[in-house]
Amino acid sequence: MAPTINWKELGFTYMQTDCFVTAEFRNGTWGAPQVQTDVMVPLHIAASCLHYGQAAFEGLKAFSRRDGSVALFRPLENQARIAATARRLVMEPPTDAIFMESIRLLIERNRSWVPPYGTGASLYVRPLLIGLTPRVGVKPADDYLLAVLCMPVGPYYKDGFFPVRAFIQEQYDRAAPHGVGNVKASGNYAAGMLGDIDGKNKGYPICLYLDSATHSYIDEFGTSNFLGITADDTYVTPDSSSVLPSITNDSLQQIAGDFGMKVERRRIQVGELSELKEVGACGTAAVITPVYSVTRGDTVYTFGSEKEAGATLTRLFKEIQGIQYGEIEDRHGWMVTV
Ligand SMILES: *Cc1c(COP(=O)(O)O)cnc(C)c1O
Repeated sequence: MAPTINWKELGFTYMQTDCFVTAEFRNGTWGAPQVQTDVMVPLHIAASCLHYGQAAFEGLKAFSRRDGSVALFRPLENQARIAATARRLVMEPPTDAIFMESIRLLIERNRSWVPPYGTGASLYVRPLLIGLTPRVGVKPADDYLLAVLCMPVGPYYKDGFFPVRAFIQEQYDRAAPHGVGNVKASGNYAAGMLGDIDGKNKGYPICLYLDSATHSYIDEFGTSNFLGITADDTYVTPDSSSVLPSITNDSLQQIAGDFGMKVERRRIQVGELSELKEVGACGTAAVITPVYSVTRGDTVYTFGSEKEAGATLTRLFKEIQGIQYGEIEDRHGWMVTV
């Protein structure tokens, strides 16, 4: 079915496409990926994902490129990360072959939903891994479902690349040191919702979280990594056991290195915010969200102009988008054609 969509007006919301793909791990082995059209997934009432949170997810994008091809951005990194999440939650990791074949089949069957080149839109791919086995005693499931769905999503910044105000959320932490903050456990998002809503109610679109043991070092934003640019144009990003290893952040660090910038991944004290000239939040959905200010109690740290993003973040943003849309050479071999 060919969708009638105004690609340029798309936001970041769920939309049903032609189909999704599932693969099941049963009796100790992965079955072949299957195309599904019924969006209702039958689950046993006692399935371990429902009761004890054996659930992991991923997010990546496919792009229509200038040369007419469709390519995924660094999908094997998402495969490695869902496998790491699965191991941490004692779930069965999907193999590279099952993961990649599921996504390949998904995109093949949803071709008409991949936004055309030049619209600024892309196809968001959402893999989900859940424990299926009926269990009431606390024990990992034996059987697992990998489901992969997709939806076209907008150019995140329809009206431009505008800086936002951030709030340091200290009443609610989102991840513990050596907990599960460094993996993409579904429950992490539930744990962060109250803090993020509290921040929104106070007038801040995003919240910044500190290390929960001491509240003195920066961890990350609710659903995106923290990056800062110092006065001498060094790229700094927190090193913490409770930060999710963002593929966007890793890619931006490599691009910063290509630009000849110094890159530092280290602990960052809250007070160091006063030394940063640009701050951004980064992740797959928006790539980079420029941050104009960070508020902690009565202290407000500001970075550059409220009207436009800083020069370095803008340059990093354009470079990564240029690689994704096939306008700039893919010198790191990140794009995987499907
Ligand atoms: C997914 C996620 C990110 C962003 O990771 P990307 O790979 O860049 O999309 C950042 N922080 C958290 C908590 C996340 O769950």
